[in-house]
Amino acid sequence: MQKVFELDHPLVHHHLTHLRSKETAPHIFRAQVRRLAVLLAAEATRDLPLKPKSIETPMMEMEGEVLDLRIGLVPILRAGLGMTDAVLDLLPTAEVWHLGLTRDEATLQPVEYYRKFSTHPPDLVFVLDPMLATGGSAVAGIQTVKNWGAKDIRMLSIIAAPEGIAHVREAHPDVNLYVCKIDEGLNDSAYILPGLGDAGDRIFNTVPNP
Ligand code: URA
Repeated sequence: MQKVFELDHPLVHHHLTHLRSKETAPHIFRAQVRRLAVLLAAEATRDLPLKPKSIETPMMEMEGEVLDLRIGLVPILRAGLGMTDAVLDLLPTAEVWHLGLTRDEATLQPVEYYRKFSTHPPDLVFVLDPMLATGGSAVAGIQTVKNWGAKDIRMLSIIAAPEGIAHVREAHPDVNLYVCKIDEGLNDSAYILPGLGDAGDRIFNTVPNP
């Protein structure tokens, strides 16, 4: 059964507040996304398997431990890109496979416009999307990763709406969710409240002019 991990850490609350503020400039917004993505990745990797590795320190030989699996990151374009480098800082040997999803304005369903996946999926895939709103893109993205053959899939989002969590839970009860904060809900335009506005626009400084 799916687990939802909502981080409860003073650094998360602190950085999230600066992230949400409409006064926050794009370069600070990007830095805050990265900081929060690192904290999410630390939580989402807590149980990863290790194998022994013999090394020599300058002082003596010792038995260390290193990660023992192939890890893939699947950022959902475009906002997921804002989290990618941060997760790579913690997992420098992870592979990055891109997935582009957009919403068909007529059907309101997610439509794939780009996918760069290998033949063989990694052992563990982290799907990255800072905002889990209706869950439409998350459900479709996770399904694509499942069709690829990945068995262990974890979703990392900075802010989630309860509606999105319920949608992912129903469609993919085997996928654990890691979120910094579960917000109040969605407005009529499917934006998260209180949220932070459009994450992609704020990351890439493409907020439409008033
Ligand atoms: N995507 C965003 O970037 N923000 C929302 O509030 C909902 C979806």
